[in-house]
Amino acid sequence: MPLRRCKFCPQPPLEEVAVSMWTDDPSDVRRDTIKLCRKHLVRLRKAGDTGHEHRGVRYRPGFW
Ligand SMILES: [Zn+2]
Repeated sequence: MPLRRCKFCPQPPLEEVAVSMWTDDPSDVRRDTIKLCRKHLVRLRKAGDTGHEHRGVRYRPGFW
């Protein structure tokens, strides 16, 4: 069932983005696409290499 909401909050998503996500080790990343609302899209892009943390998982934009 496709989620009609942002990955991080109940808002409707604005865009689907490619992210790298990890828990403890930034070199051990999983790649996925997640849907984000406008607010969280901005936060993710501002977070940069250190990532945006959500429930113990860190996310950064892009597959690298
Ligand atoms: Zn959101």
